[in-house]
Parts: sequence; C-alpha cells; structure tokens
Amino acid sequence: MQIPDITVPTIAIAGSTDRFPVRRIFCVGQNYADHAREMGSDPDRQQPFFFAKPADAVVANGSTLPFPLLTEDLHHEVELVIALGAGGANVPAGDAAALIFGAAVGIDLTRRDLQAVAKKAGRPWDMAKGFDRSAPIAALTPGVPADNGMIALDVDGETRQSGDLSMMIWSVPEIIATLSTYVELAAGDLIFTGTPAGVGPILRGQSVRATIDGFEPLTVTFAR
Ligand code: MN
Repeated sequence: MQIPDITVPTIAIAGSTDRFPVRRIFCVGQNYADHAREMGSDPDRQQPFFFAKPADAVVANGSTLPFPLLTEDLHHEVELVIALGAGGANVPAGDAAALIFGAAVGIDLTRRDLQAVAKKAGRPWDMAKGFDRSAPIAALTPGVPADNGMIALDVDGETRQSGDLSMMIWSVPEIIATLSTYVELAAGDLIFTGTPAGVGPILRGQSVRATIDGFEPLTVTFAR
C-alpha cells in the first residue's frame, strides 16, 4: 500500500481566495453564565476549562451534512471562533490580542447524549465533542473581534439562542492567556469561546443558522 496523501484542513477567509490552515481546535466550556446554569453548573465558581476537536472536524459554510453517527440528541452551540496567527506559552492577557489572525462564527456541535454518559461516568468528552464534521465554521474576518455584539442561532427559522459577546465570563484575551498556560499555542490554532444559553436538539432534515454581528452568517443543513 502507498503512503496516503493527506492535506491540512482549511477554512475560508472573508474577502479573499486564500484559505486559513487549521492546526488544532480548542474549545472553552461554559463561558456564558446563563449556559453554565442551564447545564447545572455554578458560573461563579470555576476557572475556564478546555476540550478539543480534531482539525478535520471543520465544515464549510453552506454544507449539507450527514446526521452524525450514534446520537439521538445532537445539540447546537453557536460560538465566536478565534483563529491564531501566532502562538506562545504563558502569554499574558495583555499580549494576547497580538496572536489573533481573525474570528468567525462557528457551531460547537455536541452529541449531548454521549456527553451525559461521559459526565456521569467521569470519562473524557472526546466522543461527545470531537466527532466527524462537528465544527461548522463560516469565513474568518481578519482582525481582533469586538468584545460585544449580538450572537444568535436559529433552527428552521425559530430563534433558539440569543446573547451578546459581552456576556462571556472569560474574555478572549483571558481565554488565550489561560489556554497558553496548558499548551504552547501556535499559528493555525482555533479557539471556540463558548456558547450562550438556549442549546438544544437539531433533528434530521433541519437547517441551522448562526450569526454574530459583523461576521459572515453560518448555515448548515442536516440530511434526512
Ligand atoms: Mn461549546
């Protein structure tokens, strides 16, 4: 057998035909107080925590996706996604903005039923969060994103999630700074920054539209 020819996953850049190469995908858990409460946590009592998805979980805007394997409770989580153009370890929050290439609208798709089993058993979240095509993401807008602006998601035209970036418990610079104490960040890394309240199920055949003020809207449809 020949050695396989594997390509690096990439995402679109608004206003450009160039593509942004994805190195790793990190995600912050429960970064909006109202979502932390709906998941049964106390938002005042925890430091940010992180999980990851494989780089090839990225999905382009406008895609029609097969319904994910092994779940009957697929959930949507609309999130601001940060793309890093530079890296570092133990980055001070005051220096974090200098690492940002751009930002985009993303959806942290979650197999909530598998996550519930993992949480109960004290097991890892990988199979609940890091499955195939679990990271739809729209085109990146270059530059440092604003720290406020409406973030929302609807399913078949019905509003499910609505919040504001200013409701984040940990700001983007604080997230980058904290994550960089766990791992040495690098160019090409993406960071999903958490979701506001209103997460819920997506059914076969439904379309999901996610928006953040000032960014390209993201739409994905699930096959029947
Ligand atoms: Mn999330």
